[in-house]
Amino acid sequence: MNMTDPVGQSATVLRGVLRLNEPMARHVSWRAGGAAARAYAPADHNDLAAFLGTLPEGEPVCFVGLGSNLLVRDGGYRGTVVLMHSSHGAMRIEGDTVYAEASVACPKVARFAATQGLEGAEFLAGIPGTVGGALAMNAGCYGSETWDVVARALTISRAGKLSERSATEFQTRYRHVELRGSNLGEEEWFLAAWFRFRPGDEKRARARIKELLAKRIAAQPLALPNAGSVFRNPPGDHAARLIEACGLKGCRIGGALISEKHANFIVNPKRKARAADIEALIARARQTVKDRFGIELVPEVRIVGEAP
Ligand SMILES: Cc1cc2nc3c(=O)[nH]c(=O)nc-3n(C[C@H](O)[C@H](O)[C@H](O)COP(=O)(O)OP(=O)(O)OC[C@H]3O[C@@H](n4cnc5c(N)ncnc54)[C@H](O)[C@@H]3O)c2cc1C
Repeated sequence: MNMTDPVGQSATVLRGVLRLNEPMARHVSWRAGGAAARAYAPADHNDLAAFLGTLPEGEPVCFVGLGSNLLVRDGGYRGTVVLMHSSHGAMRIEGDTVYAEASVACPKVARFAATQGLEGAEFLAGIPGTVGGALAMNAGCYGSETWDVVARALTISRAGKLSERSATEFQTRYRHVELRGSNLGEEEWFLAAWFRFRPGDEKRARARIKELLAKRIAAQPLALPNAGSVFRNPPGDHAARLIEACGLKGCRIGGALISEKHANFIVNPKRKARAADIEALIARARQTVKDRFGIELVPEVRIVGEAP
């Protein structure tokens, strides 16, 4: 593919795949929502850098991993999404770290670390997103968070510049990551990370992964399209407890339903929900919990794009 660069002086040969009007329901775990005006799946880091350089100034850009925490409104995303997930992203031991590209699925990192006799990565086994998404969200569970185990990260800027950044450059807290002096998610994105896990025992790590996955299967509606926890847990409480206490389990709007199994999950059982149904259900749960308990639930899921 040839694209003219922003100043129109030379042609850049791109090796990735560009699709127009790409239905994002194919790329998000809720299996709902609108289309992206442009969707680019880069061939590699250099190709991505070249592609970003071709975008007009002001073009909205959204990186997408496995879409397990994302919804695109029904009117679509009037910009470019970069589709980062790949089943052949690089992962290897580098010194005392595990290097994994942003495109790699988190459960693969957990299994790889275990086979290397490392412990501390097990929590990633249950997070059905990419390394890039986990870095962006500071994904975590069962007492561990992504940034607890990151030593360094590789980022790319809008100008296509790659930077290796120490974990200390990032400010992180519960499901939140900031980079001083840069607008993460709008001007700079994750390409890879070096994780530091502790030396341990393969058998024990594998057993822990099994145990954590069994807990999830028992508690979460994993057979139905969903995006994990819809709301962050408020300090000292659980969003699921509050929503359930309001009697909202099973509450339905259009094709979307508050899960009977876990009240902080919204499911799309027949794959017929519109993004608007899901958003309306989020608003209803928020309002009901606020009216009843005076607590403002904050969504954990990211919603982008335009209403129709
Ligand atoms: C069944 C289920 C269980 C879940 N359990 C958990 C859990 O226990 N803990 C938890 O924290 N989350 C959980 N989640 C939510 C989700 O898996 C995580 O937030 C995950 O980290 C999202 O990764 P992703 O690749 O799917 O990101 P996406 O959903 O594709 O994107 C999420 C956000 O990250 C940004 N992003 C994605 N890739 C990059 C990148 N390379 N650089 C910069 N920004 C990027 C996107 O723009 C978007 O804002 C669960 C989801 C499901 C469906």
